[in-house]
Amino acid sequence: MKPDRAKELAACEAGLKLRYPHVVLGSLREVSAREGKFHMKRSVQIKCTFPGCETLRRIATSDLAQVTLCEEHTRQARLRRRREARAIHKAEAAKQPKKAKAKKAKKVVTPV
Ligand SMILES: [Zn+2]
Repeated sequence: MKPDRAKELAACEAGLKLRYPHVVLGSLREVSAREGKFHMKRSVQIKCTFPGCETLRRIATSDLAQVTLCEEHTRQARLRRRREARAIHKAEAAKQPKKAKAKKAKKVVTPV
């Protein structure tokens, strides 16, 4: 890498660190052809912001605003959100007066 390129990258990383404190310094990388995962974007490592978690995760710099957790904690957060949404839904359903269930016509089973 050319020295001015490295300098530019370091400056870019410093800027990112200011906005996103979970960025791991020294981890900003240009995308190489082998890293097709990030679709020609720069990638950077982040440290999971979950208390006590030290897991590092490589993400595209464009995802920094959304991604602050490691994959495991992202999964847990998603499950928790779903559980909470379900609880709210249930509570609201309980508030509503119950609708009388329409009676289904009994199925007549004719012996063959
Ligand atoms: Zn984590």
